[in-house]
Amino acid sequence: MEEILLNLNIGNQEFFEYMQERTKVMDEIDTSWYGVFPIVSAEGILQDIRMLIPSPSNEYNTLICIHEYTHAFELYQELGLEYKDNRLEREQRARIKENEYKMALK
Ligand SMILES: [Zn+2]
Repeated sequence: MEEILLNLNIGNQEFFEYMQERTKVMDEIDTSWYGVFPIVSAEGILQDIRMLIPSPSNEYNTLICIHEYTHAFELYQELGLEYKDNRLEREQRARIKENEYKMALK
């Protein structure tokens, strides 16, 4: 998975190490549970990240992982800053990465 992500310019070694103990991989749950969850202090500062993803066992799950890792890597770079939701922009960027991966498969 890391190789796929690096090819899409998502993440680096430090980030993957950071996420390792903050990521739960679960299969056979409803896909709507998958996601990246920012942990924000009472003062509104982004402090930590948690992620729930499936194992990248097929193309569909791999796309979910790419999507969520895109969110996680963005937030990783925003740790210690005021948390900004920016939902639409974040979703757009995650979908662009999904599409980059799909195009590379063709
Ligand atoms: Zn998303």
